[in-house]
Amino acid sequence: MAFASHNSKNGLHASRLDRPLSVNSMKSLASSPTALTPTSTRPKSAAPGSSSVQRRNGTGAQKSGKDDSGVSGRVRVAVRLRPRNAEELAADADFADCVELLPELKRLKLRKNNWDCETYQFDEVLTETASQKRVYEVVAKPVVESVLEGYNGTVMAYGQTGTGKTFTLGRLGEEDCADRGIMVRAMEDILADISPEHDTLTVSYLQLYMETVQDLLAPERDNIAIVEDPKTGDVSLPGTTLVELKDQKSFLELLQTGEANRFASNTKLNTESSRSHALLLVNVKRSAKNKQEKDFVIHNENGNSVHVSKGHRVPTIRKSKLLIVDLAGSERVDKSGSEGHQLEEAKAINLSLTSLGKCINALAENSPHVPTRDSKLTRLLRDSFGGTARTSLIITIGPSPRHRGETSSTILFGQRAMKVENMVKLKEEFDYKSLCRRLEAELDKLIADNERQAQAIFDGEEDMERKLEEAGTRVAEAESKVAAALEVISKEKQRQQKELVEMMQNLQIERAHRERLELELRENVQDLQDKKKKQIYAENEKHQKEIRDILEQHQQEIKDVQTRLANECGQRERLEKELHEANICLQQSKEILEPENIHKEELSDLKQMLEKECELRQQAERELDAFKREEKKLTNGITEKNDIGEIWVLKKRLEQELLEREKLEDEIKSLKQQLLQVHVDAEERSRTIGKGSSARSSGGSNSTISLHTPSNMKDTINGQRATIAKLFEQVGLQKILSLLESEDVDVRVHAVKVVANLAAEAEVNQEKIVEAGGLGSLLTLLQSSEDETIRRVAAGAIANLAMNETNQELIMAQGGIGLLARTADDAEDPQTLRMVAGAIANLCGNDKLQIKLREEGGIRALLGMVRSRHADVLAQVARGIANFAKCESRGAAQGYRTGRSLLIEDGALPWIVANANNEASSIRRHIELALCHLAQHEVNAKDVVSGGALWELIRISRECSREDIRSLAQRTLNASPTFQAELRRLHVTY
Ligand code: ADP
Ligand code: MG
Repeated sequence: MAFASHNSKNGLHASRLDRPLSVNSMKSLASSPTALTPTSTRPKSAAPGSSSVQRRNGTGAQKSGKDDSGVSGRVRVAVRLRPRNAEELAADADFADCVELLPELKRLKLRKNNWDCETYQFDEVLTETASQKRVYEVVAKPVVESVLEGYNGTVMAYGQTGTGKTFTLGRLGEEDCADRGIMVRAMEDILADISPEHDTLTVSYLQLYMETVQDLLAPERDNIAIVEDPKTGDVSLPGTTLVELKDQKSFLELLQTGEANRFASNTKLNTESSRSHALLLVNVKRSAKNKQEKDFVIHNENGNSVHVSKGHRVPTIRKSKLLIVDLAGSERVDKSGSEGHQLEEAKAINLSLTSLGKCINALAENSPHVPTRDSKLTRLLRDSFGGTARTSLIITIGPSPRHRGETSSTILFGQRAMKVENMVKLKEEFDYKSLCRRLEAELDKLIADNERQAQAIFDGEEDMERKLEEAGTRVAEAESKVAAALEVISKEKQRQQKELVEMMQNLQIERAHRERLELELRENVQDLQDKKKKQIYAENEKHQKEIRDILEQHQQEIKDVQTRLANECGQRERLEKELHEANICLQQSKEILEPENIHKEELSDLKQMLEKECELRQQAERELDAFKREEKKLTNGITEKNDIGEIWVLKKRLEQELLEREKLEDEIKSLKQQLLQVHVDAEERSRTIGKGSSARSSGGSNSTISLHTPSNMKDTINGQRATIAKLFEQVGLQKILSLLESEDVDVRVHAVKVVANLAAEAEVNQEKIVEAGGLGSLLTLLQSSEDETIRRVAAGAIANLAMNETNQELIMAQGGIGLLARTADDAEDPQTLRMVAGAIANLCGNDKLQIKLREEGGIRALLGMVRSRHADVLAQVARGIANFAKCESRGAAQGYRTGRSLLIEDGALPWIVANANNEASSIRRHIELALCHLAQHEVNAKDVVSGGALWELIRISRECSREDIRSLAQRTLNASPTFQAELRRLHVTY
């Protein structure tokens, strides 16, 4: 007998559903006693009882049913006794019931007679008072619960007609809900348990009558075929109406419809319901839930195993069936009294029931052949008896002793049925459809995802390619840059290395050079120290030698002076003697000549002069003594420390002394001359006594050269001038000038002095001298004379003459400038230089001669003389510069002169700047004036600024003691744009 079997579309089936047949258990059941003898009050087999207990507890088979293999599930049998009906109550009032129930022992006693009875053990014994509810719970509920868990279940009623099969199963309980039968209550429990969303509940209602299956829900379908699956043996009834139920109400309607159709059908066929079998088929399809997911293996048709992971677990579905069968009455045909058709009918009914009995017997006895196929009923109940269903059979019996045989037969059927062992199996199969749907959905999702991913990958690839290209380009650029940078770095490195090497070399050279220099320096320092020592020593030596020479010279000179003084003394004595003689002579002449007053006056003058001369001499002697003392002191005091400055001072003083001495000598000579003259006059007068006195009245003392006459001799000078005037008158200019060319030096000296004095005396004399050719003679003397005195005096004379504008032109015309310039270059004597400078200074004041003067070297000569630091010389130079500047300024103002100052051209500016603030006012005054004149002209401004004269100009404008010069400087500063700009540049507010 095939037990299980669940087809599937794809041919797969669960391995756990492979058929396990428990032959042993069947055998044990079969061998167990089916009935208890009166002596045997206890059933031999405890299995039914224990099984019953297990079921009631909701454990045992239900739980074991979940196992992969089927478990033993014996058909449970309960017996229900119908109460006496009205007829029985009436008819059998005097008779006792044929059965006695022992429900607590689950036993039934069947009376054979008054003294004998048989006892039967059942799974449940339900008395006539047992409620419908209790009957349901005891008989059907375990089956219903089992169906809801996925097992097939069968509840079947077997019994004589009228014993309450339909009452037990099909009562609707419309009037009294307590009457509700098993069908209604089962459906209530099923509907309460299933889930409308996940589970489906369909119901078919069939009638089997005379081996014909009729659909009670569609009565026209009255010949429904029973189809068996050849592989699994499962039976199905294609074409049966399957009503999907949602609620109890529709089920009740369905039952009513079915009953109505059954009634109508039976009426039509002129039969009774008790003669047909009614089958309510309830299909419960439930999705497995809360099952632990785990991997498992499924097999395909080829026997290959396919591993299914829990992620793709095949869902399972449980398709269980509850079959509630209300059998036709089991009464015997003969007893029913049927005939004809009824007989056939009874046969047919009995065929099914007989077949059922046979099958049950066979199953109970564990017979190798079970005649299932003998009737449609047994085919339909194939799974219910000896199959996989959990089956509960209720046998109904009546109490009447009249039906004792039927009752006994029913009890025996029940007893045999109790021996039927089913192998309950979970009706679970894979839900391939659901799986397929789910997989398709997943597949669609995966395809869509795949498409999206493919697109994304495609896009990504494109993007990636683009980025790769860009990156490649950038990398290439970067590489080229790096290469270029590396090249530059490499070159730079090489260059730096080269430089480093060079620097190192240079450093080494420098070091060597430095070392050499240091060495040289040390040597030089040593040399210098040595040289310095030597030099200092030599200089000391030299200074000492110079001092010694000077001392010697001085001693020599002093000796000379002493000698000369001695001579002078002798001379004086002689002169005194001569004077004395002259006095005598004069005395004698007085006596001879008239008037004598003049001679007396002259003599008085001479006496005075002589006295002065004596004074002078004494002064000279004092000075000489002082000089000697000085010399002595000098000799004693000279040390190596005395410097050249002191020597220079001494030299100067010595020069002055010499000058003084010369002057004294000149004086003495002059005196001698005068004396000579007096003497001549005296002689002439002696000779020309009696010649008028007019000549004598205009006569007077000769005068000396004015330019360098010492101040303490002014009175003498006046006297000399008078004498000279007298000489000029008496001797005549021509004669005096001729004396300039005398062979005798002394005569030439005296003559030139006379001319010089004349020139200094009056402008008239100057004209006369020039007219007489004196200028030429003087220039010749200046040029040719080697005598310093002559040159000095001649220069003085020329200077005097040069005060006159006409003479200036004559001097110029006769080459005087050149002569003066040469003298200026050659001369050493400060007085000579003073004269020459004075002459040139006078010439500088002539507007007409400026160009020529400069061309012939006048300015350069003038500037050259500043080498003599004598204040008198410098004063004359300053005067000359001032004169020249003034003329230039005038020329510029009058418009006939343009261009830079010739003074500046000849380089006068540095000296001007250097002496602008000279201590000597005679110098400073001229320089200040010269500077103002130069600065007045914008053409000189630049030189003034660059030469540093601007500051002197500012100083002059602020400090100069002379108002006119100060204001001239201020005007000049304000007027010059160049000065203003320079002052602004130097942020000097003026
Ligand atoms: P059957 O279907 O076996 O032929 P029925 O169910 O039609 O028997 O019952 C026959 C009669 O007996 C009915 O009138 C029914 O109501 C009644 N009957 C059956 N069993 C019981 C019971 N247990 N209690 C009361 N009345 C019953
Ligand atoms: Mg009935």
